[in-house]
Amino acid sequence: MMNKRSDVIVVGGGVIGTSVAYYAAQAGHRVLLLDRGDVAAGTSGACDGFIILQSKNPGPHLDLAMQSAAMYRTLSAELDYDIEYLACGGMIVAETEKQADLLAGLIKKQQAAGLRVELLPIQQARTSEPLLAEDLWGAAYCGDDAQVNPIGLAQGYAQAAQRLGAKVLSGVAVQSLIVERGVVCGVKTAAGEHRADKVVNAAGVWAPELVAPFGVSLPIKPRRGQILVTEPLPPMLNHVLLCACYLIAKYHPEELDLTDRQHRLGVGLAVEQTAHGGLLIGSTREFAGFDRRNTLAGIEAVARHAQRILPALANVNIIRTFSGLRPHTPDGLPILGPIAELPGLIMAAGHEGDGIALAPITGKKVAEYLS
Ligand SMILES: Cc1cc2nc3c(=O)[nH]c(=O)nc-3n(C[C@H](O)[C@H](O)[C@H](O)COP(=O)(O)OP(=O)(O)OC[C@H]3O[C@@H](n4cnc5c(N)ncnc54)[C@H](O)[C@@H]3O)c2cc1C
Repeated sequence: MMNKRSDVIVVGGGVIGTSVAYYAAQAGHRVLLLDRGDVAAGTSGACDGFIILQSKNPGPHLDLAMQSAAMYRTLSAELDYDIEYLACGGMIVAETEKQADLLAGLIKKQQAAGLRVELLPIQQARTSEPLLAEDLWGAAYCGDDAQVNPIGLAQGYAQAAQRLGAKVLSGVAVQSLIVERGVVCGVKTAAGEHRADKVVNAAGVWAPELVAPFGVSLPIKPRRGQILVTEPLPPMLNHVLLCACYLIAKYHPEELDLTDRQHRLGVGLAVEQTAHGGLLIGSTREFAGFDRRNTLAGIEAVARHAQRILPALANVNIIRTFSGLRPHTPDGLPILGPIAELPGLIMAAGHEGDGIALAPITGKKVAEYLS
C-alpha cells in the first residue's frame, strides 16, 4: 500500500484537534486528522459548554480566553454550522462573604485587564436570575460569558476543515510517532504509516502516551468531572452559572476543608441549560486515573450543592449522568507549540477545564506554528 503524505497530521478529534485542523486547512496546509474513536469521542463529548471569561486568571489565561470569546461571536456563520452559541452572560455565585472577598480580589485584577465584570449583591443578582437561593451572598456577573454545544463545535470544525480539503478519519488509532534522526515525521497506525512535515499532538489526556516512548514526560493528568443531566425543562436559567467553590477547587485547593465530602470531591457548581432544555449540572474535580465511571458519592455531592444554590432543582428529574476527564496541568495552562525534545511535533493539549473556551484561539495559534 502506498503511504499517503500530508503536510500536517493532527492526532485527536476533540475540540482542540478539530480546531487546529480547521485553521491549518484554512492557512493552506494539507491536513489529515486521525481519531481512534470519533470526532468528540473523548473529553469534548463529556463536558459542559461554558465559554467563561471571569473564571480565568489575568495574564495569558484571560488574554487567550478573551481572544477566543471574540472569535466565537461569528463562528456559527463562519463554519456554516449551528454550534448553539448563546451570548447569555455568566454568574459566579458566592455563598459567603469570604467567597465574595475572593471574587472581589479576582474581579479587581480582571477589570484592570479590560474584562467587564462586576460583583452584585444577591437581591440584584436575583432580578436577572430569580431561581438563585435568597440567602446567598451575591454573584459576580460578566456579560461577555457565553455557552456553546461542545460536540457541535467539534463537528462544525471537522466539517468545515473537510470542506477546505482536510481529511478526517475516525476509528484510526495512532500506535506510535515515527521519529527519524530525532525528528518527528509521521505516525504509525494499524493500517500503515502516514508521513507529514509536522504532527500535532491534540490527544487530550492521552497526549503523554504518544511522547512517553521517546523519553518525554508531559505533566498532563486526567481530572474527572461528573455531570448530571436533567429532563428537558422550560427556560429556567438566563445565564451560565458557576459558584465560588469552583474557583477554590481550581485555583486554591489548599483552602478546601478535606473533612467535608463536597470539598474532598472538588465539587464546584457549574450549571447550564442546553438548547434542548435539559440542564447540565456539574461537577466534581477528582484525580481518579482514567476511570470515567460515575460514583454515587459524586452524583450525590453535585446534586446537594446544586440544590443549595438553586433550590428549585429539588423538583427536577435527573435522567442520566456522565463523566469526562479534564486534561489537567499543574499551572492550569495548556501546552502549546513545539517541544525541544521532539522537533516536528507541535503540542496542543492540557486545556484542563477550559478547552471549550480556548478552542478557537488554540487552533489559530497552533496553525501559526505549522508554517
Ligand atoms: C466535566 C467537565 C466539564 C467541562 N466543562 C468545560 C466548560 O464548561 N468549558 C470549557 O472551556 N472546558 C470545559 N471542560 C474542559 C474541556 O472539555 C476540555 O479541555 C476539552 O474537551 C479538551 O479537548 P481536547 O480536544 O484536548 O481533548 P479530547 O476531547 O479528549 O480529544 C482528544 C482525542 O484524541 C483521541 N486520541 C487519543 N489518543 C489517540 C491516539 N493514540 N490515536 C488517535 N486518537 C487518539 C481521543 O479519542 C479523543 O477524541 C470540561 C471538562 C470536563 C471533564
